[in-house]
Formats: sequence, structure tokens, C-alpha cells
Amino acid sequence: MDDLVQFRPAGLESSFSGDLKDESAGITEMPANLLRFALTHSSYGIVFRAEVEETSMFWTKTFIPTLKESPEGAEIPSHVLMLRAGLINQVMAGAYTYLPLGMRSLRKAESIVRQEMDAAGAIELMMPSMSPIGLWEQTGRDAAFGDVLVRVELKRHNRKVTVVLGPTHEEIVTDLVAHHVSSYRQMPITLYQITPKFRNEERPRFGVLRTSEFLMKDAYSFDTSVDGLNRSYEAMYRAYCRIFDRCCLAYLPVEAESGPIGGDASHEFMVPANNGEDKIVHCQMCGYAANLERAEIGSRQGSDAPTSLLPLQLVATPGVTTIEQVSNFLHCRPQDLIKTLIYLADGQPVAVLLRGDHEANENKIRRAFRAKEIALADPRTIEEVTGAPVGFAGPIGLKKDVPLIADYDVQYVRNGVTGANKADAHYCGVNLGRDFQVSQFADLRCAVDNDPCPRCTGTLRLRPAIEVGHVFKLGTKYSEALNARFLDTDEQLKPIIMGCYGIGINRILAALIETTYDENGIIWPVALAPYEVVVIPVNVTDERSREVATSLHDELSKAGIDVILDDRDVRAGVKFKDADLIGFPLRIVIGERGLAQGNVEIKWRWEKTAEMHRLENVASVAAEWIREERKTGERFKAAVYGTTKGRDR
Ligand SMILES: [Zn+2]
Repeated sequence: MDDLVQFRPAGLESSFSGDLKDESAGITEMPANLLRFALTHSSYGIVFRAEVEETSMFWTKTFIPTLKESPEGAEIPSHVLMLRAGLINQVMAGAYTYLPLGMRSLRKAESIVRQEMDAAGAIELMMPSMSPIGLWEQTGRDAAFGDVLVRVELKRHNRKVTVVLGPTHEEIVTDLVAHHVSSYRQMPITLYQITPKFRNEERPRFGVLRTSEFLMKDAYSFDTSVDGLNRSYEAMYRAYCRIFDRCCLAYLPVEAESGPIGGDASHEFMVPANNGEDKIVHCQMCGYAANLERAEIGSRQGSDAPTSLLPLQLVATPGVTTIEQVSNFLHCRPQDLIKTLIYLADGQPVAVLLRGDHEANENKIRRAFRAKEIALADPRTIEEVTGAPVGFAGPIGLKKDVPLIADYDVQYVRNGVTGANKADAHYCGVNLGRDFQVSQFADLRCAVDNDPCPRCTGTLRLRPAIEVGHVFKLGTKYSEALNARFLDTDEQLKPIIMGCYGIGINRILAALIETTYDENGIIWPVALAPYEVVVIPVNVTDERSREVATSLHDELSKAGIDVILDDRDVRAGVKFKDADLIGFPLRIVIGERGLAQGNVEIKWRWEKTAEMHRLENVASVAAEWIREERKTGERFKAAVYGTTKGRDR
């Protein structure tokens, strides 16, 4: 705590009960919500930790191992750049050390998340990474997670205990609440923590985007009613928008699968990026956005061109089973095929018809059959239903009369090709109405590029994206499994209604870098930069340059700016290259020639040209720019995204 006091911004120690907006208090440049936090909580020492700790640094006193070459095995820009800029170091596949610069950016992201969680009324606690396997067995998640769950066997005296390294903490927090919350009077409450989480990634890759250990903010809301849950959810949703806005991410909240509560009950916060592992669907006309699992498709149209119907024909297709094989063998396009998929809907066989080039969406199929669970049928069931081996199913002459639903696009297939429900045979010239009947059509497939938007007349675009956050209405799954009940106003015992809300802190950094870099390196917004300003004396052996640089550094530091002085005795080119690679937002260069005329060069990382400023003004100019930029990120967003609105780019 002594260190914290020492590093408080100038003047702050004077009085906390005084007017915090007073210039002399020296904290007017702090974000508005931080002031709010400081006023409502007395633990201000902790709040200011990330903001003011070590605001200044000499390059030679810290540890910044930058790399000239792209490291082996790094596949995507964020991974390459985080390694090259000396932010992280790989320990093994999927495990990274955060070096001092990476750590600073991570702490800044964490601090923004914490401030906004607190401002939204969530309460911070810390749960252990290790928890007993028994809790996970009670909810069935030990089985559901399978090998992803990290289990560790511990020796306790003469017995062995299996513990889990938590990938999330629903079980632990629900168990906590079950023990201490028993009345409607104790709710609503939202609890959160920012702690490491564990997930056994079989194929860790993409740097910090997919690792077995990661830093996550996980929050859990507890309410007495669905209305209450909706309010808690809304508060988290809004907090997430503020967090990602402040982090200057170009993000999109997208609709996701809703789970047990149904309706509009889940959103993912996605950053569209070329190397994203997830797919989102987006309409630029109306802003509709959903993940691929969830995305609806607008009403489909067939071709208006008249087609004469060909006669139905049985053709021999020995050993030809896949869409690709059939279309090659019969010289037709995949979209001329109708594929027949046999599923088990809650254990009962059902048939689904899809156009050959389309991909089944199991969530949509599950909903269409009003089933709780859906799975592709096993070969034996398929043979029982079709009377043929796998690969020859078709809608004409199914052996068993099973419920059949077709995707909307199937109604526009003319003279199609289907399996014949006989080994090594297909039908050509298949036409709906004449050759087979469908009682129900539904949206059963995944969206593709240029599909009609479900909300407007626009078209949908598929984009890869990185998930940085997820908000989800859980309902009573965990409270029922772990017996978290409360006495309601009507004196009835009811299960607590829960929501859960996650943010991948490491992913904030990776997603940002993935979308904001150039050929020279990372481009940080002020909000997340390891240091906000780098001061570079071109020639440190020149005494005047060194003096000016040091006093600029001290002045900025005193003004509460995060500044690093590159005091290395190396060529100026090396310093410029490193500054660009690491991506400090503001660069101040002190050259001997400029100095002779009383001028210093100042430049934003994202701008092409530098400005010359009078030496006596440069500290106040830089401090003012940084304070503005901290609040809004507007210069960064305008330069990098072409708009000051990060969202819905
Ligand atoms: Zn639209």
C-alpha cells in the first residue's frame, strides 16, 4: 500500500473528501467512472493501481526483448506482433508469459473491465481455480466438458482427491449463493471476478487467442424473476458496450443461441477479423447481426425461368455417396441435389431435406421438430428408415414413415437428384409435388453469403470474427442442480434465476491487434497502450538531447502520463523501428538540429507525418492530447477504422 500512496497523481493525497473535480486535485484527467468509483468506495488505493502505478520508465531499466524476425510457428498477425514487440514469450504450446509491456496492456484492459463492472453495480470477489470434481458431477458438466475440463489428482494424506481447474465458475458461485442467499430480499445481486481460467486445448494455436490458460472476467447474476434477470442482463450488455468502446474495438454484438430461456437471451460480442475462428452473419443495411448457428434467413425466392419437367429416372451410381461424388458422376451442380438427412430427435428418427450445397443447422432442425436434443442418426437407424445403406437416402419411397421437414430452398429445386433408398442408385428428374410430398417447410440451414436479410431487404454477409465477450441468460439450470433456492414474497421456495457473462481479457488485446496493425507493427489506442508516450532522443550521447529528453519525461510523468524514455545508446533507426513495432500511440523525437532551433517533433503512431512543436510547449500539448484521447479514443478510431464509432463499423 505504501507504494500506491507514493505513486498517486500529484495533489491527490491532499484530500479525498474535497472536491474531486478541483484541478488542484490532479485527477480531472481520470475517466469519469473512475471518479464515481473513488467516491462510492473507500478502497481507492486498489482502484488507482492500474492507472498510476509506475507511470514512467527508462527503456534501459525495463525488459523489452523485441525480435527482428517473425518467430517460427506464429501464424497470425496478433501472434507474430505480440511476440516480436516483446509483449509475450511462449513457454509451451498454448502457454505464454506476459512480459512487462504485455502485462501493462493486459492490466489496462482488466482495469477498464473492472471499472465498468463496478459502475454497473456488479460486486467483485475471487474464487479459487481449484474446485472439487463433485460440484461438476452434480451439474453434469464433468461429462459435458469431457477432455476440455482440466482434472488434477491431488494426494491428501492417504487418499487421492480429484479437483478441477475451472474453465468457468458457475458451479462454485452457485454453491456459494446456495449457502448464503435464501430470501428474495438478498437479490438481485451480480458477482464477478477476474481470474485465470483453464481449458485443455487439444490444438492450442493463434497465440493468446486459443490457450489452455487465460484471464477471464466472469460475472453471474442472481434474480428472483425473469423480469429481474432481463434487467441484470441489460445492465451487463450495456456495460460490455462501454468496455469495448473504451478499448476502441470495432465490435458487433451478435445474437447467439438462446439456450433454456429462449427468445433474445444470448449475445456474443464479436470483432470481425480475417483470422477469426467464428463466423458471424451481418446485414450492413439494417445492422442485423447473429452468429452462424443463430442467424435467420429472409424469405427465399426461386428462379422465374420456366423449366420443363423431366421424367423421373432411376440411375445406377455404384459406390457414389457424397454430394461431391454424385455431382461429379451425374454431371450436375450440388444445388441440383436434394440431400436427405436422417436425425434422431429426442431419440425418434426424423428426415430432413436440404439442397445439396447447403449446410444443415442443427439448432434450427432441433427447433423445427420441437426437440430437446438432436443428433445425426447412426448407420443402423438410417438403414431401418431408408432400407438402403448410408449415402443413398431420398424422399421417394422411404421404408419407414417418419416425420419429414424440408428447408425452404428445396421447393425451388427442379429436376433434382436424390438418393433412391436403394444401394448404389439415385433418382434423376426428381420434382416436388409430382414425385414426393412435403407437409412442412422450415428454415433448416446455415446462412451463406448473399442470403436475404431476415429483417430488411438487404443481403447478409458472412464474416470471420473473434469472440471477446458473451452474455447469456442461464435460467435455473445451475440453481436447480445445486439447490440454490430462495423464499419468495409469496413464501414459496423457488430456484434462483441466473445469468452468466464472460469477457476474455487476453482476447481483447489479440482482437485489437488483429484489426489495428500495419507493416511496421502494432497500433495501440491510448486506452490499452503499454505506454502512452515514447520519448526518443536521437543521440543520447549528446548531453543537451539527453537533458531535454529526461526533463520531458519527468514533466509528462508528473502530469500523470504513461511515458517511457528510450535512453538506449543505439542507432536512431533501431529506436524508431521498435517504437513503431510496439506501437506507442504518441512519439516525441528530440533531434540535435531541431533542438538548435528550439523545436521538437511529435507524431501519432497512426499518422504519416510528424508536427514540429516549440520545446517549451511540447509537454503540455502531449499531455492534453493524451488526456483527450484517453476519454474518447476518437483520433485512433477515425484514423484506424475511418469512423469515430467503433461499433457497427
Ligand atoms: Zn437487414
